[in-house]
Order: sequence, then structure tokens, then C-alpha cells
Amino acid sequence: MTSRVLVLGGTGEARRLAAALTDAGVDVVSSLAGRVAEPVLPPGQVRIGGFGGVAGLVAWLRAAPTAAVVDATHPFAAGMTAAAAEASTVTGVPLLRLQRPGWTARPGDDWRRVDSLAEAAAAVVGFGSVFVTTGRQGLAAFADVPGHCLVRSVDPPAPPLPRRATVLLARGPFTVADERALLRRHAVEVVVTKDSGGSMTAAKLTAARELGLPVVLVRRPPLPPGIPVVPTVEAVLARIRSCAI
Ligand code: NAP
Repeated sequence: MTSRVLVLGGTGEARRLAAALTDAGVDVVSSLAGRVAEPVLPPGQVRIGGFGGVAGLVAWLRAAPTAAVVDATHPFAAGMTAAAAEASTVTGVPLLRLQRPGWTARPGDDWRRVDSLAEAAAAVVGFGSVFVTTGRQGLAAFADVPGHCLVRSVDPPAPPLPRRATVLLARGPFTVADERALLRRHAVEVVVTKDSGGSMTAAKLTAARELGLPVVLVRRPPLPPGIPVVPTVEAVLARIRSCAI
């Protein structure tokens, strides 16, 4: 079994991976960006804060010899993912990308896929009440949306916010019943989300389907080429066990 693994985190999968690796006796260092005020910490060692770009990550990897890096960041954390790929090339430290699959539409879904938050904002013009669940970053894209925006995030979002906004601070997982009640209470007409995938925040999609509401879904940024990608924690563990990372 590999001795020391850097897990780039900030997701539920990263926490589960850190727990599983720790249980297996692997020396794990989880890295968090430090965006969330009170993060749910994984077991094992944790470091918090940016590395300082590719050069910083390269220096970190060289200063603390690491057998492998698992990039388990969120599918939309494109900057960290690109930096990890570059640092792996520079240092030769093997890199594996853990990325959960995106969501798949079911019969009855009215999903409108777009490429960016700006396109998402354009797609909701004309709706009176919008549920914006794209996280606290990038809300400036919705600044000129004329409808009322219910904005949900874990920590308070930084301005600029949508002109007419109600902020709801909450951390998933959410139940379908709660999401349905929330959509009704705020008379939501359209839901905006990133294609984050996973079960933690999927209930809003089910609730939207049940209520016949359209969903504007922001496509994921592309992954850097040449990096092996696996969809589950179990697949990472199998790779590490067989030293095939
Ligand atoms: P990003 O745009 O890809 O990264 C921007 C910078 O933040 C990176 O260059 C790096 O700074 C630092 N950073 C990001 N992830 C880090 C990590 N795990 N450990 C240490 N530094 C990290 O990232 P983001 O979209 O702001 O996301 C930040 C964190 O929130 C990520 O860990 C991600 O997993 C989590 N998250 C993101 C989203 C989302 O929608 N984007 C949703 C849920 C959770 P330096 O250049 O200084 O190294």
C-alpha cells in the first residue's frame, strides 16, 4: 500500500476517501481551500489554504515527499484541477482524478444545459422567481437578473448579489420533501444549478421534476487531458491497493 497520499478536498468524496485511506493505514494529508468558515474536517492530517499556484504546489510536493495525489475537488474547481495536473507533470508525482458522474435527466425533467453562469443568468430572464443554487462564488453573473432570486449557499455570499435576492444559508444533504416545500414556499419558477452530480444536493432536481419546474444546468468545465479519472472512492482505493495510481 502506498505510504503517503495528498487528497485535494472540499467534497464529501474527499472526506470519505481520507477516512478509508486512514483506516487502511495510509498516511493521508487532506488539503482544503479554506473557503468555508466551518468546514467538515476529514480524518487524518489536514492543511488549509491555497498552495500559491502551480509553483507553490510543486514546492509543497517536493518539501514533503508524496507517493500520489488524488484530486477529489469539486467538478467545478477547475483552477485547482489544472494546477494539480501541471504540478504532477513537473514533479512526476502520480495524479488521479476522483470525479463523481454528472446528473442524468429522467423522464419528466425539463433541463436546459448551458456552458457558464452567464448563460444561466441569460436563461432565467423572464422568470419571476429563480432558485439559484450555484454556490456563493460567481453570483455576480446574476446581478442583472430581473426576477426575484432565492440564493442558497453554505456561507454568506459576497456581493454583488442579484438585484432582488433572498439569501438562505444551508448545508446539504437536503430531502426531497424539504426541497419541494422550499420551492413552493418561494413560488419558484425555475431552478439554476451546476451539474455537480452526487446525491447530497440532487433532491432539488427531483422536487423540480415533481413540480414541473425547468432546471438550468451549468455544464462542467473540461478536465485536463491525460489524467486518469475514476468515479468513486472505491475505485481510488482499488488503484492505490494495486499500486496502479
Ligand atoms: P478553484 O477555483 O479551482 O481554485 C482556486 C484556488 O483555490 C486554487 O488555485 C488554489 O489556490 C485554491 N484551492 C482550491 N481547492 C483547493 C484545495 N483543495 N486545497 C488547497 N487549495 C485549494 O476552486 P474553487 O472552485 O474556488 O473551490 C474551492 C474549494 O471548494 C475546492 O476545494 C472545491 O473542492 C470546493 N468546492 C467547490 C465548489 C464549486 O462549485 N466550485 C463546490 C463545492 C466545493 P492556490 O492557487 O493558491 O493553490
